[in-house]
Amino acid sequence: MCNQLAEGTRWLKCGHFQRHFVAAIVDCDSSRCERSIRHSPSCRQPNCTKNFGPDIQKSIDNVDEFCFQCRTAMSRRR
Ligand SMILES: [Zn+2]
Ligand SMILES: [Zn+2]
Ligand SMILES: [Zn+2]
Repeated sequence: MCNQLAEGTRWLKCGHFQRHFVAAIVDCDSSRCERSIRHSPSCRQPNCTKNFGPDIQKSIDNVDEFCFQCRTAMSRRR
């Protein structure tokens, strides 16, 4: 199963990752995975992997704060 390499912000106080964009696709080199370049376009197998696996999270920037979602959730609780 292929993965997307996502770059984004790591919010250190809650540990959440905020994805900005997909920087690359990491190919799994499997002919049974439709996302791979090794997969044949003429393949008739119904059970090949169709989806990407979990994102590989690459933080290009670390912020010592809570993410927007967590901050919104906290202000609602007050
Ligand atoms: Zn794959
Ligand atoms: Zn296939
Ligand atoms: Zn958060």
